Formats: sequence, C-alpha cells, structure tokens
Amino acid sequence: MRELWIENVRVVAEAGLMEGGAVRVAGGRIAAVATGPAPREDASPVLDGGGGLLIPGLIDVHIHGASGHDMMDGRRASIEGVSRACAATGCTSFLVTSVSSTLEALLRLVDRVREVIGQEPGAAIAGIHAEGPYLNVKRKGMQNEAFLRHPSLPEMRQVLDHAGPLLRMVTLAPELPGGLELTTFLRERGVIVAVAHSDATYDEALAAFRHGASHVTHCFNGMRPIHHRDPGLIVAAFEAPHVSVQAIVDHVHLHPATVRLMHRLKGPGGMVLITDALQAMGLGDGEYSFGGHAVTVRDGVARLADGTLASSTVTMNGALRNTVGIGIPLVDAVTMAATTPADLLGLPHKGRIAVGADADLALLDEDYRVCWTMIGGRMVFQAGGEVADRPPPPSA
Ligand SMILES: [Zn+2]
Repeated sequence: MRELWIENVRVVAEAGLMEGGAVRVAGGRIAAVATGPAPREDASPVLDGGGGLLIPGLIDVHIHGASGHDMMDGRRASIEGVSRACAATGCTSFLVTSVSSTLEALLRLVDRVREVIGQEPGAAIAGIHAEGPYLNVKRKGMQNEAFLRHPSLPEMRQVLDHAGPLLRMVTLAPELPGGLELTTFLRERGVIVAVAHSDATYDEALAAFRHGASHVTHCFNGMRPIHHRDPGLIVAAFEAPHVSVQAIVDHVHLHPATVRLMHRLKGPGGMVLITDALQAMGLGDGEYSFGGHAVTVRDGVARLADGTLASSTVTMNGALRNTVGIGIPLVDAVTMAATTPADLLGLPHKGRIAVGADADLALLDEDYRVCWTMIGGRMVFQAGGEVADRPPPPSA
C-alpha cells in the first residue's frame, strides 16, 4: 500500500489531540491530517482505525534486549529479534544499547548493527547508545564492575573509527579522571553525551554540562541522590534548560510522584520515556543473564542476587499507559515517548504526526495495546498476525 487513508482514529497530532480524525499516507510520509472521515472523492484505500488511538511511532533511546534476545551476545539474530519485539510495542526506532564490556565486545556489537541496519525486520535502528564502560563503581547499579574503567580517549577514538556515525550516545560518569575531556571530544564529533552511573556533585555536573553533556540517563537511578545541602547531578540537570532526562516509568524505578515532579520541572520537551529493557521484556518472570550477571525477574521486576535493580521489563506502550495513568496528559506522554526522543536524536521528520513527517505510526486500543505498527507507510506488526519470536526452550 503506497497510498492510503487511516480514518476513524483519535489522532495524537503535533497540533494536539484530534477526535475522529484521519491521516493520509503517501510515499512513506504523512500527506494530510484531517478532521472527520477520509474524503470519498479520494480513490486511495481506506484503513478503518476502529476509534483507536493513532500515535507517532515511539522511539526508545535505551534498550538492551527483549523477547529472550540480549544484543550484547554477538548474534545478528538478537538485534533482529529486538527490532521485531520493539515493533510489537509500537516502537518504530531504537538505539541499540550496550552495557559495560570489553572493547572487543563493543566493537563486535558495532559489526552486528552494521549487518542489520537498513534490513531491520521491525523497528529501525537509529544508532548505538554505549552505556559505559566509563562509569563510577560507586554508582554501578547492575553494571559489571569487572568492565568499568576510567575514560580513555584512545579507546573511544578506536570505537568511533569503527562505528562512525552509528555511535549516537555515550553514557558516562564525567567526574572520573578524563571525563570532561572525553565529553568535549564526543560532543565535537556529534555524539550525545549522557550522564549516569555517576557520583557527580552539583558543581561536577555543571562542569559536565558546560563541556557539552546534554542528557541524563535513567534520571534518579544510578546516581548521587538529591540532598538539600548536596543537590548533586539531578538538581543540576533540572536547572539546566538544555539538558533532557530519561525516565523509566515502570512504577518500580521511580515513584509516580517523582515522575510527575520530573514532568513539571522539565516539561514534555525535556523528558524522554525509555524502557532500559533487558531480554526478559515480553517473556515474563524467570532466570536470565544480563551484562555478565544472573538476573531474576519476579512480578516483572528484574534484580541481581543482592536485590539491585537490573534493567526493566517495561515496554514503550506500557510506559505510555503508566505515564497517562498517573495523571500526565496524553499528548505530553506521547511527546515524551516519540517527539522529544526524535528531536534529541536529530530526527525532526520522526516522532510526530504532521504533514511531511515519516509515516511511522502505531494504532493503540483503549488499553494502550498495540493493534498495528507502520514504518514509512509499511506495516511491520499486526496484532494476531505476527507473534514476537521466542528462543527455543533450554532443553531443545
Ligand atoms: Zn541500561
């Protein structure tokens, strides 16, 4: 279907929520956004949205795995599996996210991404987010201490030589020796510098923002907490207008009141919803491995043996549902899950329903379940049609 109308939908358009709207798709782009049904004089096929919610495709800048696939395992099939699983959650673009590892494992991930990019079976790869390895052991969370090290310009030069523009984001702890130099180095090469797994004080965080850091990974988690006499990285980020923050809205990593506070302080243009998902996303409770650790998922919560939270199992459509469920307006929640991450990644033609934008769309039912997902006007997931793939049972 090169041209079609999608009608009978509640459209979360860039201009606001439109009840009973219609969207025309042509040449992979959004050609019209209208109120009322599709015009009958137009001969294009019409897709009835059944009164569902039509949203821009969601964009996840922080995901490690899904549906039994760990993207650090060196297998091309794992990245393809996550691409498929993302599409089933209404997500149309994602950053393949690493965990702290050896240089060899990171370069291998780059090679696998290069093989898959352009031929993704589901959501499109928007690049790579290297979470680590230059993180502070004091705030390591689930990052494997064996792989944490101080910032190294020669090593990062090697990664950039290998990855080129595929490397879109690096999460680091700027207070480590060499952290500010590395921040400047990455920023000058167009890489987004995000801060987390960091013990940065308020002043150290301000220095990082002055050197070009512009984002905070899973804000509040894996960093020095707020104290009224020691406000730290978090308050520095809230005060800096050019710094955006990630939120894991699974009601485990952040109390709902904290999510509302972040929304109030940063606004929808300064906050992005992420999954930070591990391979258990879409599979449920059980035993998994992640970043060289054994991880147990119980009641949907992933933890190491010592109780440390280890990534999440929330999906992007689930994060959207949770965010609206705690009183944040729908349009703001969609902005935080699609538009703001698109702008962060420098993709102004994505993450919005507006004339000229890419036809990356998802249709949700009244419970935020995904009915279908489309990328560039092409269906990549339909509920009941394609089932998220699962790995064979261990005994097979
Ligand atoms: Zn992560």
